[in-house]
Amino acid sequence: TQPDPRTKAAVKAADRAHVFHSWSAQGLIDPLAVAGAEGSYFWDYDGNRYLDFSSQLVNTNIGHQHPKVVAAVREQAAKLCTIAPGFAVDVRAEAARLIAGRTPGDLDKIFFTNGGAEAVENAVRMARLHTGRPKVLSTYRSYHGATAAAINLTGDPRRWPSDTASAGVVHFWGPFLYRSPFHAETEEQECARALRHLEDTLAFEGPGTVAAIILETVPGTAGIMVPPAGYLAGVREICDRHGIVFVLDEVMAGFGRTGRWFAADHWDVTPDLLTFAKGVNSGYVPLGGVAISAEIAATFDERPYPGGLTYSGHPLACASAVATIEAMAEEGIVENAARIGEDVLGPGLRELAERHPSVGEVRGLGVFWAVELVRDRATREPLVPYNASGEANAPMAAFTAACKKSGLWPFVNMNRTHVVPPCTVSEDEARQGLALLDEALTAADAHTV
Ligand code: PLP
Repeated sequence: TQPDPRTKAAVKAADRAHVFHSWSAQGLIDPLAVAGAEGSYFWDYDGNRYLDFSSQLVNTNIGHQHPKVVAAVREQAAKLCTIAPGFAVDVRAEAARLIAGRTPGDLDKIFFTNGGAEAVENAVRMARLHTGRPKVLSTYRSYHGATAAAINLTGDPRRWPSDTASAGVVHFWGPFLYRSPFHAETEEQECARALRHLEDTLAFEGPGTVAAIILETVPGTAGIMVPPAGYLAGVREICDRHGIVFVLDEVMAGFGRTGRWFAADHWDVTPDLLTFAKGVNSGYVPLGGVAISAEIAATFDERPYPGGLTYSGHPLACASAVATIEAMAEEGIVENAARIGEDVLGPGLRELAERHPSVGEVRGLGVFWAVELVRDRATREPLVPYNASGEANAPMAAFTAACKKSGLWPFVNMNRTHVVPPCTVSEDEARQGLALLDEALTAADAHTV
C-alpha cells in the first residue's frame, strides 16, 4: 500500500523502513518529518515552524521555494528534461556563461558536476593531469566532500573511516588564531607562521611531487575561520613559485554566503581552479562544478579530458542555476548578505558573546558566522571535546535541543554553532534568530566552569 504522504505517521514509517540516512547510526535517529518550506522557514506536520539558521546544509542561499526558480524548473521540465552532456544546449551554455562571468580572473570554462564532492574529485584529477604530479595538500580543519579523493582531502574526523594510505593526500595546518597551531598571538604572526609551516611541509614532501594545494577560501563546516590578510595571497605566491595548482573550494563559501559572489573576492585572489555547488542554485536541483583557468583548460585542448558524468550540466539543474543567479543579481541578494552580516549578525553576535560565558569567540562575515562554545573562556577549553559523542557531547546536545524547542533550526558542529541563514534573510528574521539563540545559549552557559 502507498503511504499517505500527508500524514506524519505514514511519512515517518516509510522513512524508518526504507531510507538509509547519511552519517547516522540508523537505529538511533529520529528524523523530523518536514511538511513544507518557504523563504527562511520550514515546518513539520504538527504546525511547528522553524527559522532555518542552517540554510539546510548551508545551501539554500536564496531561501526555500523562490518563485522565479521554481517557475524556471517547471518551464525547463516542459521544454527539455534531459540531454546528454555532449550536446550544446541553451540553458547549459547560459548557466556556464553566468557563472564564468562572476568567478574571479580567467576562470572562464565550467565543468559541471552533480554536487561539491564530484567537483573536488574533478579538480584534483585536472591538477594531477596538468602537472603530472601525484600529491595534493589540504588542511586538517577542512571538509571537501564524501567521495574517494574528497573524503581523503577532508581533515575532520569523517575522513577516518574512509582513509586510504594511497590517496596521495598530505594534511597541514591552516591559520586559526583562536586555536593557533603556531602559538601565535596576532593575526600577522598567525599569517606569517602558517605560510612558513606550509613552506616547510612542501620542502619535506618535495614540491615537485605536489600537484595541488586545496583550501576552502573560508573554511566552512570546520569552523568559519576567516583567513588573515595576506594568507591567501601568500599561498598563491607559493603555488606559483613551485608550479603547484591552487584550488579554492567555494562549495560552501561561494555564491553570496560571505557577502560577495565568491569569498575569494574579499582578498582579490584568483585560484587556478575553483569548485562550487550549493549556492549556485541553492540546491533546488543537484548541481556543482569546477571553474577552470585558461592555462589548465588549454591542457585539454588537444588531449581529451578523461572524466565525465551522465548528468553533467543537467538541463533542470542549469535552468535553476540561471534563474538563481538572475534572481540574486536582480534582488540584491549578495548585498543583503553583506548588510545583514555587518549591521545585524556581527554586532548581535558580539553582544551575545559579552553576556554569555559559554561564548569563547564569534567570527565570520556576510551570513557565515561561527559561535565557538567553551567550558572556560580563560583556557578556551571547548564546551565538548573534539569529535565527542554520547554523554561527552551532552552539553552541545542540550544546546541544540533548546534551539529547536524555541523554533530555531541551528547548524551545529562539535563545540560550535554556525549562524548561516539564507542570504535572503530579512533584518527582522535575523534579529528574531539572535533572540532565540540568546535563550538557547543559557543551556550552554549551564555547562561552563
Ligand atoms: N566542499 C565543501 C567546502 C563543502 O562544504 C562540501 C559540503 O558541505 C563539499 C565540498 C561537498 O559537497 P557535496 O555534499 O555537495 O558533495
